[in-house]
Amino acid sequence: MILDVIQRSLRQPSRLVPVEALIESCEGSRMPDVQPERLTVDIASRVSAVCPTGALATEDHNGRNCLRLSYGHCIGCGRCVEVGEGAMVPAARFRWTGLKKEQLVRRWDLGRRVEIAVETPGPDAVRRHVQKLLGRALNIRQLDAGSCNGCEAEISALTNPYYDLERWGIHFVASPKHADMLLVTGPVTRNMADAVRATYEAVPAPKLVVAVGACGCSGGLFAGSHAVVGAVDAVVPVDRYIPGCPPSPAMLLSGILEVLGRRNLK
Ligand code: SF4
Ligand code: SF4
Repeated sequence: MILDVIQRSLRQPSRLVPVEALIESCEGSRMPDVQPERLTVDIASRVSAVCPTGALATEDHNGRNCLRLSYGHCIGCGRCVEVGEGAMVPAARFRWTGLKKEQLVRRWDLGRRVEIAVETPGPDAVRRHVQKLLGRALNIRQLDAGSCNGCEAEISALTNPYYDLERWGIHFVASPKHADMLLVTGPVTRNMADAVRATYEAVPAPKLVVAVGACGCSGGLFAGSHAVVGAVDAVVPVDRYIPGCPPSPAMLLSGILEVLGRRNLK
């Protein structure tokens, strides 16, 4: 019987989830997007008023009345979609992951109803150096600085056969001394701040630090709490940010590959 099952499974073609299905997927993350043609000043004010983290706000940007959306602050609560009258929708694809903090911010001109394009800077010196050194392999040390464990649940999924992070030569390691990248979740609590600094110091240079989740990017819902120091970059230098609350495994994967300049690699 067991031999029969093994023979049958060996005859099945092995199937990995295609990279195209994972890269820029944000299914289940509840991250919002904007339909600019439906955006009005009233709707922009309304969605900004209900946003619990200040991710949405109206502002004057170079003399233009704008709606600003910071994905680093967004917890995917869906309130803006509920009151946005079709101008706010759940994102179908999501490419704002693994970027610099300022690149997580989008703006729409409320007068012209168009998105204001931003210039994308090239990779910085550290990232170029790390890309050159690491080639096709990367060791990651995950560090919980005060997370609710929602981000950890999604990070753990990266190693299962569906996402199969190891197909890119990317591994999780137990010691920061063996790591090339620190993946830090949570707002940094006062109790964890020294441990975060010590872990950062223990990673050999050159090293990359990636802040994960709304908490890691901005403090999320816990920003301003007496129990937290702040976002990860309040304690150690951060190279790139992966937003979401929590980011889905596909968003984490896209972000890590973006940091390595390998998002287009098959
Ligand atoms: S989904 Fe994000 S942008 Fe929309 S209201 Fe919630 S936190 Fe704000
Ligand atoms: S970003 Fe969301 S899921 Fe991640 S630690 Fe913060 S509250 Fe939890």
